Amino acid sequence: MFRTFRLATYTSLLALVGIASSASAAELKVVASFSIIADLAKNVGGERVDISTFVGPDGDAHVYQPRPADAASLEGADVILVNGLQFEGFMSRLIETSGTKAAVVEVSKGIDPLKSAEEEHHEGEEKAEAGHDHGHEGHHHHGEFDPHAWQSIHNSETYVKNIADAFCGADKAGCATYTANSETYLAKLGALETEVKAAIGSIPADKRTIITSHDAFGYFERDYGLKFIAPEGISTEAEASAADVAKLVDQVREDKASAIFVENISNPRLVEQIATETGLKVGGTLYSDALSGIDGPASTYIDMFRSNVNTIKSAIVGG
Ligand code: ZN
Repeated sequence: MFRTFRLATYTSLLALVGIASSASAAELKVVASFSIIADLAKNVGGERVDISTFVGPDGDAHVYQPRPADAASLEGADVILVNGLQFEGFMSRLIETSGTKAAVVEVSKGIDPLKSAEEEHHEGEEKAEAGHDHGHEGHHHHGEFDPHAWQSIHNSETYVKNIADAFCGADKAGCATYTANSETYLAKLGALETEVKAAIGSIPADKRTIITSHDAFGYFERDYGLKFIAPEGISTEAEASAADVAKLVDQVREDKASAIFVENISNPRLVEQIATETGLKVGGTLYSDALSGIDGPASTYIDMFRSNVNTIKSAIVGG
């Protein structure tokens, strides 16, 4: 029967099936592990993609507990976008159990990764006490590299190119659209980076040390020349100890930190305590590992970067 269908009939049948199975006209079903990747993917995919996001606005991917529905959305996905660099500890097992056939793409692929400071520390311990079991539980072991690569716009350009490649691979008919969309968006990112460098460049060199709650800004530090210190490491999983906090308070006095910030994904209590002990005033909220909700100041990647830079600059040199 199908062989005798004329092309037009077959096409309209497909269109009907499409309408029946989904309210949107999207060609690709995409799962993004967290909000920042979802926004980049939206800019590349436009109307052709339907994106679901596991860790949404203000969510903390380091400690995310998958919901039963997550496995189902993986199963129905065409493309799964993850950061990689061991950021999403919950993801590999979820992908395995879902039985999905989708392409799983690590969007950080190809960036120049920063070695995790904690990992260097552990290596030091291992050399000092060869063969000793540190007693770290498996899920508290962080990766070799700092996963927060999106805090450099330069890296996010690589993310965008990887996403465009992934979409082209899964939907050849849409490739020209994905390529055009990504070029438009990459131009915006280029302009944003120029803006960020100028803003940070206007902060006096001796006022560029600031405090956040966890080490999420290593790539920002490397590429834009601010120094970030934090009581927690590159994951929020392990809470800072009293000794970590005391050490940080000493460091703040030595390095003369200019400002301290809470993060949108973390409980502000620890930062407030450090602010009290050091006499620094909390300078606002930085968006580290997640965007804000739609009504917040950081509901897109570009707005997130602008909001962070404006918040930092106002706290240090005044609005
Ligand atoms: Zn983080």
